[in-house]
Amino acid sequence: MATQTTTKTEICDAIHARRKFLISSHARPDGDSIGSQLAMYYALEALGKEARIVNADPPPDHYREFPGVGHIEITRSVRETDAEALIVMESGDLARTGVAGLEGRFTINIDHHQGNTYYGALNWVDLSAAACGEMVFDVIEALGVPLTIEIATHIYLAILTDTGSFHYSNITPKTFDICRRTTEAGVNAAAMARRVFDQNSFGKLKLIGALLAQMDLLDGGRLAVMYLNDEILNSTSTTYNDTEGLINLPLTAREIRAVVFFKLGADGDIHISMRSKYDVDVRAVAARHGGGGHKNAAGFKLKGPLTAVRDGVIEELEQAIALGVQTRP
Ligand code: 5GP
Ligand code: MN
Repeated sequence: MATQTTTKTEICDAIHARRKFLISSHARPDGDSIGSQLAMYYALEALGKEARIVNADPPPDHYREFPGVGHIEITRSVRETDAEALIVMESGDLARTGVAGLEGRFTINIDHHQGNTYYGALNWVDLSAAACGEMVFDVIEALGVPLTIEIATHIYLAILTDTGSFHYSNITPKTFDICRRTTEAGVNAAAMARRVFDQNSFGKLKLIGALLAQMDLLDGGRLAVMYLNDEILNSTSTTYNDTEGLINLPLTAREIRAVVFFKLGADGDIHISMRSKYDVDVRAVAARHGGGGHKNAAGFKLKGPLTAVRDGVIEELEQAIALGVQTRP
């Protein structure tokens, strides 16, 4: 297994040398996974290649109208295909795709998360990238594919969502260079912000109200704790997908340093999402439980019941807040 990070040139050579591709990303895809996969899909198409996108879960509803989303095949297992290569975006290991049958192929692994296991034949992991979409932009440019409106839209979607609408600390001058290029290619930044962030149903507004009403404020107001269960979803006529992005709401309170969102699945699993500000490192908390992410956005899963795990996670977060340097710009 390789441990060295691959160069962009090696990825371009590998792509040029092959014709049929599978593309995948992590289960419960977010804007960066959707944007990275579809930008690559359109680039491969422009090169005259064949590509299939296989995902375990459907995209969040408000991404359905984005170009090419209908091409994404939702499946938990891929049967024999004659694809010559697999390109995986944003996944620390193959299991995170939630798609069985991807193993044993020539694999190109493109990721910007710590903890990637270098499972590919080619592994490009750049922790400094604000979004996987930034890396895909570089590959597409190196492939010599023109920045069409479809590709630019998906690159911008990836960056807009993975920077938390330009709130996170991983933004660099390069992030804006790429965004400038995508807007030159025709992306309308204001329209994109509306399409991505102003898509609430009335049910979702009710869900926001219910979640915030039940939120706990701990650690002198520095930690917000939110809970999701089927009861809240049913009473607001919403689904799990409607919870995307809601973890960021408590961060808008001035005092808050970290947010944890316990989401109870029907299978008894609890998915724990965390967000933080400044130097509070929630990835370290996730990593101790086999999860991952970034310093300011991370997650992991635990077996329930909630009462058995809640207090331990809260204690770890209080420690992470205490450790985080209080840098308020
Ligand atoms: P979210 O809270 O939106 O689900 O995820 C925030 C960040 O943490 C994302 O970068 C996501 O990839 C990562 N993350 C969330 N859950 C898990 C998990 O169970 N395992 C790993 N490795 N990363 C996760
Ligand atoms: Mn990402």
